[in-house]
Amino acid sequence: MPELPEVEVVRRGLHHHLVGKTIVSTSVRHDRAVRRQPGGAPELTGLLAGQQISGTGRRGKYLWLTLEGPTGAQALVVHLGMSGQMLIGPISRPQHLRIAATLDDGSVLSFVDQRTFGGWMATDVVTVDGSELPEPVAHIARDPLDERFDMAAVVTRLRGKHTEIKRALLDQTLVSGVGNIYADEALWQARVHGRRLSDGMSRAKLTEVLDSAAGVMRLALEQGGTSFDDLYVNVNGESGYFERSLEAYGREGEPCRRCGRAMRREAFMNRSSYFCPSCQRLVEPR
Ligand SMILES: [Zn+2]
Repeated sequence: MPELPEVEVVRRGLHHHLVGKTIVSTSVRHDRAVRRQPGGAPELTGLLAGQQISGTGRRGKYLWLTLEGPTGAQALVVHLGMSGQMLIGPISRPQHLRIAATLDDGSVLSFVDQRTFGGWMATDVVTVDGSELPEPVAHIARDPLDERFDMAAVVTRLRGKHTEIKRALLDQTLVSGVGNIYADEALWQARVHGRRLSDGMSRAKLTEVLDSAAGVMRLALEQGGTSFDDLYVNVNGESGYFERSLEAYGREGEPCRRCGRAMRREAFMNRSSYFCPSCQRLVEPR
């Protein structure tokens, strides 16, 4: 599943290639890829016809193109799901093509998605807290890389939640864009066990966790993103990612890079958490 840095890499590629172009026509090859559109394929293709792509946007792991034109649709939200790709030009897996949009310069923007958890949705834009967001994204909190991310306010909200800190980090309405991998990395860096309760943590420690999350995502972004899924490629269809050395995620049994103790894995929300039992102690609430 793509995390924030991968989505941001895709957004930048789309921005570079698409802004200023107009969608001439759209062809839906699989209804599942338009299941979020209330009126299905006819509604999506109708709303996109003649719309100019005026920009791109991202919040957390949510990605969209901004639109202007005769139909009034203001955004095309792109859900990448588990394996979605936005490709411009020839595609190597035509059997997994779900949606294709022909642009006014003759090029084709393809949505390829083997598992079809992702899809497109044309929608209106609403203004929330000074930012324009597509309606389906309106409830998503700012991510730690957002220049208007309000650290103090987010820390206050976390202090008001009687919930495990890792669960809170993954709650996209509190802070967005932090997925399972980067949550583990941030918690390792801040030396916090993911099952610590957020209302039992100090403001300084919560700030350190969020700063760490921003730091690991910024680093991944500089390195081109992290992905363990070779289906996930960038906007030109080439693999844009290389593995980076993760400090916690996926390192069960390997020595902690800080203290040498064997890293542990435990089940968490149908996934896994990786942590150092020495650096990240679980302090039970009193
Ligand atoms: Zn350690």
